[in-house]
Amino acid sequence: MPDYYKMLGVQRSATTAEVKKAYHTLALKFHPDHNVGNPRVEHQFQMIAEAYEVLQDTAERQFYDRFGLKKERLERVTRPTPGKRFEGLVGNVVDEMLGSGKRKAKSGKDHRFRLSISLEEALLGANRTISYRHVSRCEPCEGTGTLDPDSGQEPCHVCDGGGEVKLAQSGLLPFKRICEFCEGRGRVILRPCATCHGEGITEREREYEFPIPRGVTSGKRLRIQGAGAPGVFGGRPGDMYVEVTVEPHPFFQREGQDLHIDFPLDIRSACMGAKKLAPTLSGGVTVHVPPHSKNGDVLRIRGEGVPGVGEVARGDLLLHVRIELPVLDDAQLEVLTRGWEDLPTGSQPQCESFSSLVDERIKQSQAEGEKSS
Ligand SMILES: [Zn+2]
Ligand SMILES: [Zn+2]
Repeated sequence: MPDYYKMLGVQRSATTAEVKKAYHTLALKFHPDHNVGNPRVEHQFQMIAEAYEVLQDTAERQFYDRFGLKKERLERVTRPTPGKRFEGLVGNVVDEMLGSGKRKAKSGKDHRFRLSISLEEALLGANRTISYRHVSRCEPCEGTGTLDPDSGQEPCHVCDGGGEVKLAQSGLLPFKRICEFCEGRGRVILRPCATCHGEGITEREREYEFPIPRGVTSGKRLRIQGAGAPGVFGGRPGDMYVEVTVEPHPFFQREGQDLHIDFPLDIRSACMGAKKLAPTLSGGVTVHVPPHSKNGDVLRIRGEGVPGVGEVARGDLLLHVRIELPVLDDAQLEVLTRGWEDLPTGSQPQCESFSSLVDERIKQSQAEGEKSS
């Protein structure tokens, strides 16, 4: 609850004429029409008007002197609504007791971002530019809110420039709270800086070159100390947090320090052996495919996996052989497979053992059928 006497800058013993005179002087100074481009002043004008409304009325003033509240405000907060009695009043008092918004050093806010990165960026490290709205001190007025420090501002008459006021009607408890009139600045701006409209701060688009460390994994939260918003009243700046998501790669799968990839192989290279190229994180590598390679064989290329970070050694690249049968028309297939029906026994061991398994099953069921009949 504001101190209406301080708001008008008069003594508690002031006569109605003195109250009126003080109001007229302040109303003129804080009238929005005289303060175009000063967004704060409208609120200040309203506070002065409310103080005047109470103090110029004898009955209202007596009530305020006794209870420290405006009559209609008390009626509003004490009206018995089921389950919510006194909540407004108690809430205000608790706020004031805790000194919420009190002028003490406050750390700046943290900036938080989510960043999707490719597997290559995660494994090799990269720099990514993050753009965001950054609050900083207004340059033209050097954070004061006015370009004319001598006559464009003056000490707040409500808190005498201290930024805090003693809690009105608080009895013996010396609680202080932030001055509503100047919002804790201790000054009122009369001719605000056109860039920041008297706020002393500006919001600008800012870019930050963010280093992604090598070997980062999905879900990791990275912190850069001091890269958040600046603190107020001497508080330390906030931090920057970036939560990283590593996008799935179109062909590499990561498993610890190793990378896996499907490795399609034509039937001839698989049979005869061949030199082939395989992709790596940073380019390509020549692979020696041994003759008699089978589907599902794994070819390991040492040192082409995930780069080591700290003590961890670099992993391997594992190629999973997938033999591809050629897609041909009937005539082409006929030419290609001529002679294949006469392949020697033991040349296709898996096919052979599979057909003998089937033969055995059939024989067994026939024998059982004869027994039961
Ligand atoms: Zn003040
Ligand atoms: Zn400014």
